[in-house]
Amino acid sequence: MTSHGRSLGNDMGTEAGDCIFCSIANGQTDTEILLRGGELVCFRDAKPAVRHHYLVAPASHVGNCATLRKDHTPLVEQMKVMGRRILEENKVSDLDDVSEMSIKSLIRYGPQSYWFITVDKVLLQLNTNGMVK
Ligand SMILES: [Zn+2]
Repeated sequence: MTSHGRSLGNDMGTEAGDCIFCSIANGQTDTEILLRGGELVCFRDAKPAVRHHYLVAPASHVGNCATLRKDHTPLVEQMKVMGRRILEENKVSDLDDVSEMSIKSLIRYGPQSYWFITVDKVLLQLNTNGMVK
């Protein structure tokens, strides 16, 4: 969505059984669920890069960006909405403000990141290619 980085998961090939995001969504960890709605949960990043660093994950296992297909588009759009909502609830209005981020975090989460992709790029690729490359 922005250079604040909201990962959709990049752990290639993880199955639901050993997926940390599924464990969190199913209440098997002590991670506090901040928002829950529809098929999604929202919680704080375990190693936040900034004060407001949240993750939105599907409650049931999806895999990662590479496993997404066009019919996941509504799910990804809902993830974006929940991401916006947690930021609004925490009075984060400037999504381009990266002043709190370290150089290391900017490299990891920035628009040029090797590891992460913005939600808008995911939606664009799903709509044009039917998959995320
Ligand atoms: Zn999972």
